[in-house]
Amino acid sequence: MATKITEECIACGACEDECPNTAISYAEAADLFVIDPARCTECVGHDNEQRCAAACPPDVCVPDPAHVETEAELFDKVKTLWSERADEFILDDSTSHFRLNQAG
Ligand code: SF4
Repeated sequence: MATKITEECIACGACEDECPNTAISYAEAADLFVIDPARCTECVGHDNEQRCAAACPPDVCVPDPAHVETEAELFDKVKTLWSERADEFILDDSTSHFRLNQAG
């Protein structure tokens, strides 16, 4: 599933530059950062952890149950987002948190 930022966001901005898919932006009206689920791949294809969650001081980047996706769907998404270099993406322990979870 995509990751979302809860209303407890303190708008520090630590997450924004961490996202490899430019999925995070500042929502001025709400004074918090938001994640575009259409661009979030849970970092699948890039890293084995959600980079925004790892960088977030109050730990408010959490799984979004409204956007449940499989590893295959997320991997397809990253290749579509970056179609000009789709062949460069690989799925392994270093690029998918799903693999780490399976390993226990
Ligand atoms: Fe971006 Fe990864 Fe966070 Fe999704 S989980 S918003 S891809 S940093």
